[in-house]
Amino acid sequence: MKCPACGHLDNKVIDSRLSEGGEATRRRRECVGCGRRYTTYERIEEAIPLIVKKDGRRESYDRRKLIQGLERACQKRPVSAEAREEVADAIERDLRESGEREIASSEIGEKVMVHLRELDQVAYVRFASVYRQFDDIGEFLDELQRLGQRVRTSERMRVAPPPSRPADLSPSRPPAPTDPVE
Ligand SMILES: [Zn+2]
Repeated sequence: MKCPACGHLDNKVIDSRLSEGGEATRRRRECVGCGRRYTTYERIEEAIPLIVKKDGRRESYDRRKLIQGLERACQKRPVSAEAREEVADAIERDLRESGEREIASSEIGEKVMVHLRELDQVAYVRFASVYRQFDDIGEFLDELQRLGQRVRTSERMRVAPPPSRPADLSPSRPPAPTDPVE
């Protein structure tokens, strides 16, 4: 650690204690060069790993994208916004605790599927059937949009649709024309 006053690299720790409710260690240090005292905090690294896409590009994790992917998969399904946020929380916790610097986007997709399978079968199938083929949620959203259009077209062509379908696999409405993702 470089002394803020003189830039000397050697220092001695003169006091060390837990801080922030045990989340950090606070250390008082004294510069060996000039005697200046300063404080450092040591914390467990909790960064979310970088996302590695199929083509090798890296991008930083974006919770908004994850939430949007979950929203699309859960459209018209009995899955609350709170439940979707909890899925995102759980996945983020997983990512932080992995200690990895990088993680494949496909692994995040797999994690989403594990959670959706428990929450709602239809949302799970929607997500799994589309996501598996893609390397990020942006592509997944595009495909879901196309899929939704195809399904609605075929519904219109039917003369007499059945009164109810056991599972509605189609998204309920077309996504907004200007998609904020990507
Ligand atoms: Zn110094």
